[in-house]
Amino acid sequence: MPCAVRGGGSVPAEPAARVQHLYPVHGIKGSPETAGFCGTSKAHCRSPDCMIDYGHCDAHQKPKGPPTKDIPRPHLGLVPYGPTEIRSCTVPGTVALTFDDGPTQYTGDLLDLLDKYEAPATFFVTGINNGKGPIDDESLPWASLIDRMISSGHQIASHTWSHQDLSKVTPEQRTEQLEKNEAALRNIMGSFPTYMRPPYSSCLPRSGCREDLGKMGYHIVLYDIDTEDYKNDDPNSIKRSKDLFDGVISTGSPHTKSWLVIGHDSHEQTVYNLTEHMLQTITRLGYRPVTLGDCLSDPRNNWYRQDFSWSGRTFL
Ligand SMILES: [Zn+2]
Repeated sequence: MPCAVRGGGSVPAEPAARVQHLYPVHGIKGSPETAGFCGTSKAHCRSPDCMIDYGHCDAHQKPKGPPTKDIPRPHLGLVPYGPTEIRSCTVPGTVALTFDDGPTQYTGDLLDLLDKYEAPATFFVTGINNGKGPIDDESLPWASLIDRMISSGHQIASHTWSHQDLSKVTPEQRTEQLEKNEAALRNIMGSFPTYMRPPYSSCLPRSGCREDLGKMGYHIVLYDIDTEDYKNDDPNSIKRSKDLFDGVISTGSPHTKSWLVIGHDSHEQTVYNLTEHMLQTITRLGYRPVTLGDCLSDPRNNWYRQDFSWSGRTFL
Protein backbone atom coordinates (compact mmCIF):
# COMPACT_ATOMS: atom_id res chain seq x y z
CA MET A 1 0.00 0.00 0.00
CA PRO A 2 1.64 3.29 -1.06
CA CYS A 3 2.16 5.74 1.78
CA ALA A 4 4.45 8.72 1.60
CA VAL A 5 4.98 12.36 2.29
CA ARG A 6 4.99 14.31 -0.96
CA GLY A 7 8.57 15.00 -2.03
CA GLY A 8 9.85 12.26 0.25
CA GLY A 9 10.86 9.87 -2.49
CA SER A 10 14.26 9.08 -3.90
CA VAL A 11 14.36 12.30 -5.93
CA PRO A 12 16.15 15.14 -4.09
CA ALA A 13 13.70 17.89 -3.20
CA GLU A 14 13.97 20.95 -5.47
CA PRO A 15 13.37 24.46 -4.23
CA ALA A 16 10.06 25.89 -5.37
CA ALA A 17 9.78 25.35 -9.11
CA ARG A 18 8.65 28.15 -11.38
CA VAL A 19 5.07 27.05 -10.99
CA GLN A 20 2.92 29.34 -13.10
CA HIS A 21 -0.28 27.42 -13.42
CA LEU A 22 -0.31 25.09 -10.48
CA TYR A 23 -3.92 24.72 -9.53
CA PRO A 24 -5.90 22.49 -7.22
CA VAL A 25 -6.90 19.30 -9.01
CA HIS A 26 -7.68 17.48 -5.80
CA GLY A 27 -11.16 18.40 -4.66
CA ILE A 28 -11.17 15.27 -2.56
CA LYS A 29 -11.01 15.47 1.18
CA GLY A 30 -7.91 13.75 2.43
CA SER A 31 -5.84 14.12 -0.74
CA PRO A 32 -2.90 11.72 -1.03
CA GLU A 33 -0.76 14.83 -0.60
CA THR A 34 -1.53 14.43 3.07
CA ALA A 35 1.13 12.39 4.82
CA GLY A 36 -0.10 8.99 5.85
CA PHE A 37 -3.14 8.91 3.54
CA CYS A 38 -2.74 5.37 2.26
CA GLY A 39 -4.70 3.14 -0.03
CA THR A 40 -5.24 1.95 -3.56
CA SER A 41 -8.56 3.61 -4.41
CA LYS A 42 -9.02 5.86 -7.45
CA ALA A 43 -8.65 8.87 -5.17
CA HIS A 44 -5.35 7.62 -3.82
CA CYS A 45 -3.85 6.61 -7.13
CA ARG A 46 -4.87 9.29 -9.56
CA SER A 47 -2.14 11.37 -11.14
CA PRO A 48 -0.58 13.77 -10.51
CA ASP A 49 -1.34 13.53 -6.78
CA CYS A 50 -0.02 10.03 -6.25
CA MET A 51 3.60 9.63 -5.23
CA ILE A 52 5.19 8.38 -8.44
CA ASP A 53 8.05 6.72 -6.56
CA TYR A 54 5.76 4.48 -4.52
CA GLY A 55 3.78 2.55 -7.12
CA HIS A 56 -0.01 2.13 -7.58
CA CYS A 57 -0.25 5.43 -9.48
CA ASP A 58 -2.21 6.06 -12.65
CA ALA A 59 1.25 7.21 -13.82
CA HIS A 60 2.40 3.58 -13.78
CA GLN A 61 -0.18 2.42 -16.29
CA LYS A 62 1.32 1.72 -19.70
CA PRO A 63 -0.29 2.27 -23.11
CA LYS A 64 -0.63 -0.74 -25.38
CA GLY A 65 1.33 -1.22 -28.57
CA PRO A 66 5.02 -0.91 -29.40
CA PRO A 67 7.16 1.69 -27.60
CA THR A 68 8.02 4.86 -29.50
CA LYS A 69 11.61 5.27 -28.29
CA ASP A 70 13.27 4.14 -31.55
CA ILE A 71 11.27 6.43 -33.84
CA PRO A 72 13.65 8.98 -35.45
CA ARG A 73 13.28 12.50 -34.12
CA PRO A 74 14.90 14.89 -36.61
CA HIS A 75 14.61 18.62 -35.92
CA LEU A 76 12.64 19.82 -38.95
CA GLY A 77 11.64 23.37 -39.83
CA LEU A 78 12.64 26.76 -38.44
CA VAL A 79 10.84 26.71 -35.08
CA PRO A 80 13.38 26.12 -32.28
CA TYR A 81 13.39 22.84 -30.33
CA GLY A 82 14.49 22.35 -26.69
CA PRO A 83 16.46 23.58 -24.83
CA THR A 84 14.87 26.78 -26.19
CA GLU A 85 11.50 27.67 -24.63
CA ILE A 86 8.90 29.23 -26.94
CA ARG A 87 6.89 31.94 -25.22
CA SER A 88 5.29 33.78 -28.13
CA CYS A 89 3.93 33.44 -31.65
CA THR A 90 5.64 35.01 -34.66
CA VAL A 91 2.93 35.64 -37.30
CA PRO A 92 1.42 39.13 -36.78
CA GLY A 93 -2.35 39.25 -36.32
CA THR A 94 -2.64 35.69 -35.00
CA VAL A 95 -3.77 34.43 -31.60
CA ALA A 96 -3.11 30.83 -30.58
CA LEU A 97 -5.59 29.73 -27.93
CA THR A 98 -4.17 26.70 -26.13
CA PHE A 99 -5.96 24.45 -23.65
CA ASP A 100 -4.09 22.20 -21.20
CA ASP A 101 -5.01 19.13 -19.13
CA GLY A 102 -7.82 17.69 -21.26
CA PRO A 103 -9.67 16.07 -22.71
CA THR A 104 -12.27 16.32 -19.98
CA GLN A 105 -16.03 16.09 -19.65
CA TYR A 106 -16.23 19.72 -20.85
CA THR A 107 -14.09 19.34 -23.99
CA GLY A 108 -16.93 18.29 -26.31
CA ASP A 109 -18.79 21.52 -25.54
CA LEU A 110 -15.60 23.53 -26.10
CA LEU A 111 -15.24 21.89 -29.53
CA ASP A 112 -18.84 22.89 -30.31
CA LEU A 113 -18.02 26.49 -29.42
CA LEU A 114 -14.81 26.53 -31.49
CA ASP A 115 -16.77 25.07 -34.43
CA LYS A 116 -19.36 27.85 -34.08
CA TYR A 117 -16.61 30.48 -34.34
CA GLU A 118 -14.61 28.47 -36.92
CA ALA A 119 -11.69 28.97 -34.56
CA PRO A 120 -8.75 26.55 -34.67
CA ALA A 121 -7.06 25.98 -31.28
CA THR A 122 -4.38 23.78 -29.75
CA PHE A 123 -4.90 21.10 -27.11
CA PHE A 124 -2.04 20.11 -24.80
CA VAL A 125 -3.33 16.66 -23.97
CA THR A 126 -2.50 14.73 -20.80
CA GLY A 127 -2.59 10.94 -21.16
CA ILE A 128 -3.97 10.03 -17.75
CA ASN A 129 -4.74 12.55 -15.01
CA ASN A 130 -7.34 13.48 -12.43
CA GLY A 131 -8.65 9.91 -12.38
CA LYS A 132 -10.04 10.09 -15.92
CA GLY A 133 -8.43 6.88 -17.18
CA PRO A 134 -6.10 6.53 -20.17
CA ILE A 135 -6.89 8.56 -23.29
CA ASP A 136 -6.52 5.52 -25.56
CA ASP A 137 -9.05 3.39 -23.68
CA GLU A 138 -11.85 3.13 -26.23
CA SER A 139 -14.45 2.45 -23.57
CA LEU A 140 -13.88 6.08 -22.50
CA PRO A 141 -14.83 9.20 -24.48
CA TRP A 142 -11.32 10.68 -24.76
CA ALA A 143 -10.06 9.04 -27.95
CA SER A 144 -13.12 10.09 -29.95
CA LEU A 145 -12.72 13.66 -28.65
CA ILE A 146 -9.11 13.66 -29.85
CA ASP A 147 -10.25 12.31 -33.23
CA ARG A 148 -12.74 15.15 -33.38
CA MET A 149 -10.05 17.73 -32.54
CA ILE A 150 -8.01 16.55 -35.51
CA SER A 151 -10.93 16.41 -37.93
CA SER A 152 -12.04 19.92 -36.85
CA GLY A 153 -8.62 21.42 -37.68
CA HIS A 154 -7.21 21.78 -34.18
CA GLN A 155 -3.66 20.91 -33.21
CA ILE A 156 -2.75 18.22 -30.68
CA ALA A 157 0.30 18.72 -28.47
CA SER A 158 1.62 16.80 -25.47
CA HIS A 159 1.20 17.74 -21.82
CA THR A 160 2.88 14.48 -20.67
CA TRP A 161 1.39 11.15 -19.62
CA SER A 162 0.40 11.90 -16.03
CA HIS A 163 1.18 15.56 -15.35
CA GLN A 164 4.23 15.10 -13.14
CA ASP A 165 6.61 18.01 -12.54
CA LEU A 166 9.39 17.30 -15.05
CA SER A 167 11.96 19.22 -12.97
CA LYS A 168 11.41 16.91 -10.00
CA VAL A 169 11.34 13.42 -11.51
CA THR A 170 14.40 11.43 -12.62
CA PRO A 171 15.61 11.66 -16.25
CA GLU A 172 14.23 8.13 -16.80
CA GLN A 173 10.83 9.08 -15.38
CA ARG A 174 10.88 12.23 -17.52
CA THR A 175 11.50 10.24 -20.70
CA GLU A 176 8.75 7.82 -19.71
CA GLN A 177 6.34 10.72 -19.16
CA LEU A 178 6.79 11.74 -22.79
CA GLU A 179 7.07 8.29 -24.37
CA LYS A 180 3.94 6.90 -22.72
CA ASN A 181 1.90 9.85 -23.97
CA GLU A 182 3.45 9.36 -27.42
CA ALA A 183 2.32 5.72 -27.49
CA ALA A 184 -1.18 6.59 -26.26
CA LEU A 185 -1.61 9.35 -28.85
CA ARG A 186 -0.09 7.10 -31.54
CA ASN A 187 -2.75 4.52 -30.65
CA ILE A 188 -5.39 7.15 -31.45
CA MET A 189 -3.83 9.21 -34.26
CA GLY A 190 -1.10 7.03 -35.78
CA SER A 191 1.36 9.81 -34.91
CA PHE A 192 2.43 11.87 -31.92
CA PRO A 193 3.14 15.58 -31.40
CA THR A 194 6.42 17.47 -31.68
CA TYR A 195 5.07 20.28 -29.48
CA MET A 196 4.77 19.96 -25.70
CA ARG A 197 4.14 22.10 -22.63
CA PRO A 198 5.70 21.04 -19.32
CA PRO A 199 3.14 20.61 -16.51
CA TYR A 200 3.28 23.59 -14.12
CA SER A 201 5.50 25.21 -16.81
CA SER A 202 8.30 23.56 -14.90
CA CYS A 203 11.37 22.46 -16.84
CA LEU A 204 14.26 23.92 -14.87
CA PRO A 205 17.67 24.16 -16.61
CA ARG A 206 19.61 22.42 -13.85
CA SER A 207 17.35 19.37 -13.99
CA GLY A 208 18.47 18.74 -17.57
CA CYS A 209 14.82 18.82 -18.62
CA ARG A 210 15.16 21.30 -21.50
CA GLU A 211 18.08 19.48 -23.11
CA ASP A 212 16.35 16.11 -22.69
CA LEU A 213 13.20 17.38 -24.39
CA GLY A 214 15.27 18.82 -27.23
CA LYS A 215 16.95 15.46 -27.74
CA MET A 216 13.51 13.84 -27.83
CA GLY A 217 12.58 16.23 -30.64
CA TYR A 218 10.22 18.50 -28.76
CA HIS A 219 9.38 22.16 -29.03
CA ILE A 220 8.92 23.40 -25.44
CA VAL A 221 5.98 25.82 -25.38
CA LEU A 222 4.99 28.32 -22.70
CA TYR A 223 2.78 31.41 -23.34
CA ASP A 224 2.64 35.19 -23.18
CA ILE A 225 -0.95 35.55 -21.96
CA ASP A 226 -1.85 33.59 -18.85
CA THR A 227 -5.62 33.79 -18.38
CA GLU A 228 -5.19 32.53 -14.80
CA ASP A 229 -8.41 30.61 -15.38
CA TYR A 230 -7.26 28.09 -12.76
CA LYS A 231 -7.64 30.82 -10.13
CA ASN A 232 -11.03 32.05 -11.34
CA ASP A 233 -13.15 28.97 -12.06
CA ASP A 234 -16.26 30.48 -10.59
CA PRO A 235 -19.15 32.38 -12.29
CA ASN A 236 -18.34 35.50 -10.26
CA SER A 237 -14.56 35.56 -10.45
CA ILE A 238 -14.05 34.48 -14.10
CA LYS A 239 -14.44 38.17 -15.03
CA ARG A 240 -10.93 38.63 -13.66
CA SER A 241 -9.62 36.27 -16.35
CA LYS A 242 -11.60 38.10 -19.04
CA ASP A 243 -10.24 41.47 -17.89
CA LEU A 244 -6.72 40.05 -17.71
CA PHE A 245 -6.98 38.72 -21.28
CA ASP A 246 -8.47 41.97 -22.62
CA GLY A 247 -5.86 44.06 -20.82
CA VAL A 248 -2.87 42.20 -22.24
CA ILE A 249 -4.15 41.71 -25.79
CA SER A 250 -5.03 45.41 -26.01
CA THR A 251 -1.40 46.40 -25.51
CA GLY A 252 -0.51 45.47 -29.11
CA SER A 253 -1.77 45.92 -32.65
CA PRO A 254 -2.73 43.04 -34.97
CA HIS A 255 -0.51 44.64 -37.61
CA THR A 256 2.60 43.84 -35.62
CA LYS A 257 1.69 41.56 -32.72
CA SER A 258 0.61 37.99 -32.07
CA TRP A 259 -0.33 36.17 -28.87
CA LEU A 260 0.07 32.74 -27.29
CA VAL A 261 -2.65 32.17 -24.68
CA ILE A 262 -2.94 29.49 -21.99
CA GLY A 263 -6.24 28.17 -20.63
CA HIS A 264 -7.52 24.80 -19.41
CA ASP A 265 -10.39 22.73 -20.77
CA SER A 266 -10.52 21.10 -17.35
CA HIS A 267 -12.22 24.21 -15.97
CA GLU A 268 -15.94 24.74 -16.38
CA GLN A 269 -15.84 28.54 -16.57
CA THR A 270 -13.12 28.43 -19.21
CA VAL A 271 -15.32 26.33 -21.46
CA TYR A 272 -18.72 27.93 -20.79
CA ASN A 273 -17.75 31.55 -20.25
CA LEU A 274 -14.16 32.71 -20.82
CA THR A 275 -13.45 31.17 -24.24
CA GLU A 276 -16.40 32.79 -26.02
CA HIS A 277 -15.36 36.13 -24.54
CA MET A 278 -11.80 35.65 -25.81
CA LEU A 279 -13.02 34.70 -29.28
CA GLN A 280 -15.21 37.80 -29.46
CA THR A 281 -12.33 40.03 -28.31
CA ILE A 282 -9.94 38.44 -30.81
CA THR A 283 -12.34 39.17 -33.68
CA ARG A 284 -13.26 42.65 -32.46
CA LEU A 285 -9.62 43.72 -32.32
CA GLY A 286 -8.87 42.38 -35.81
CA TYR A 287 -6.88 39.27 -34.87
CA ARG A 288 -7.59 35.74 -36.11
CA PRO A 289 -7.50 32.57 -34.01
CA VAL A 290 -5.09 29.92 -35.34
CA THR A 291 -3.29 26.82 -34.15
CA LEU A 292 0.09 27.05 -32.44
CA GLY A 293 1.86 25.65 -35.52
CA ASP A 294 0.20 28.24 -37.74
CA CYS A 295 1.03 31.14 -35.41
CA LEU A 296 4.67 30.04 -35.67
CA SER A 297 4.45 29.50 -39.45
CA ASP A 298 5.47 25.86 -39.04
CA PRO A 299 4.26 23.56 -41.86
CA ARG A 300 1.66 21.04 -40.67
CA ASN A 301 3.87 18.04 -41.49
CA ASN A 302 6.25 19.18 -38.74
CA TRP A 303 3.61 19.10 -35.98
CA TYR A 304 3.62 15.31 -35.59
CA ARG A 305 5.88 12.28 -35.94
CA GLN A 306 4.44 9.31 -37.74
CA ASP A 307 4.81 5.80 -36.35
CA PHE A 308 5.24 3.79 -39.56
CA SER A 309 5.25 0.52 -37.58
CA TRP A 310 1.71 1.19 -36.44
CA SER A 311 -0.97 -0.67 -38.32
CA GLY A 312 -4.13 0.73 -36.78
CA ARG A 313 -6.20 0.46 -33.65
CA THR A 314 -6.41 -3.31 -33.89
CA PHE A 315 -4.75 -4.01 -30.56
CA LEU A 316 -7.01 -1.76 -28.53
ZN1 LIG B 1 -1.34 21.27 -16.78
